[in-house]
Amino acid sequence: MHDFKYVDKELYCEEVPVKKITEEVGSPVYIYSSRTLRNHFNVFDCAFAEIPHIVCFAVKANSNIAILNLFAKEGSGADIVSGGELFRALKAGVDPQKIVYAGIGKTEEEIAYALKSDVLMFNVESPLELQKINEVAGKLGVKARIALRVNPDIDPKTHPYISTGLKKSKFGISIKSALEEYQLASTLPNIEVVGIHKHIGSQITEVGPFVAAMEKILNLVSKLKESGIDIKYIDAGGGLGITYSEEKPPLPREFGAAIIPMIKGLGCTLIFEPGRVIVGNAGILVTKVLYLKTGEAKNFVIVDAGMNDLIRPSLYDAFHKIIPVEEKVSEEITADVVGPICESGDFLAKDRKIAKPEPGDQLAVMSAGAYGFTMSSNYNSRPRVAEVMVDGDKYYVIRKRESYEDLVRGETMLGDQI
Ligand SMILES: *Cc1c(COP(=O)(O)O)cnc(C)c1O
Repeated sequence: MHDFKYVDKELYCEEVPVKKITEEVGSPVYIYSSRTLRNHFNVFDCAFAEIPHIVCFAVKANSNIAILNLFAKEGSGADIVSGGELFRALKAGVDPQKIVYAGIGKTEEEIAYALKSDVLMFNVESPLELQKINEVAGKLGVKARIALRVNPDIDPKTHPYISTGLKKSKFGISIKSALEEYQLASTLPNIEVVGIHKHIGSQITEVGPFVAAMEKILNLVSKLKESGIDIKYIDAGGGLGITYSEEKPPLPREFGAAIIPMIKGLGCTLIFEPGRVIVGNAGILVTKVLYLKTGEAKNFVIVDAGMNDLIRPSLYDAFHKIIPVEEKVSEEITADVVGPICESGDFLAKDRKIAKPEPGDQLAVMSAGAYGFTMSSNYNSRPRVAEVMVDGDKYYVIRKRESYEDLVRGETMLGDQI
């Protein structure tokens, strides 16, 4: 469900015509629906109403502070993977006691920052990281609350680049050595063991892998209990998929129905770290057609947004629906929709059947709310695009389009230093 729809052949976000936004803000532009965002958050949150739980939105999916602030107001916490994300979450008003911190390469500075901010817990990814957290906490005279990120060796049946819970993955601690690591953790003077964490991958469209991973985790939780280690927080990670094309991922309610009975009665608080499922379909990227070109073997629709603005098609071979901002009758063509970047991998769609557009027409790249803007870059010295949030019949620029001056901010030429 989302709030992008046609009214009289014109695409709207809630009550605002998309074209009104591009006329005033320019193109390309990311547009998010605040109604969809709130709705998605609450549907997910309500799916677990029966049991004590915290929803920690995965900041890396979309880190604009307006979005983090919107979720914080709905009661969301944050799943962060860097000091920068911690800064954003705090700035946006997220309660530190609802912030969980994952990531395999936390630096000493980042660990200290998180300890001083009193985040709920660190999701620890390796034995040496655990030692480092113990050491930094000791220096600061505090105790660090931790969960170990356990790798349950479950195949999430998704793209290999977004599978994170297999044996060969760089993430987490193998489930085989987890018990031993927990015992060691519980002897460290500046560490308080409070939880267990897993995150097996992203864009997962079946309940099965989640249930299988949870079974393994719960098995470990009961072994830990036997050895005197009580787990307060079970962090189930993120990963629930969305519909980009024809996928039929489980609804949050169905997801909840599978997981709740496993957790109920354990006396634990369940944590979730959803990213994509909350923001993915709440955002679009609007782009303008610059040129049409007929190659020897293919048609190309050349647009003003490229892989630097939305890298998912290039990086993961991801599919995004592309629809016209103004519907009109025209012949259907098969074309690659490509950006202006000097890379063959710069495309938004390949061999796509679309209504033949004309230069100047606008296209909406759907389901671009997750891993869209956050993965964008300045490659080819392209200023990053504006972000807009719609609320009813109003819209707000929540990130200004970058200028050429922004591109060189912080750069100096030799000799200019003094
Ligand atoms: C990326 C990530 C998430 C969010 O994943 P989604 O598929 O967007 O729900 C959650 N937790 C961790 C540790 C992650 O790395």
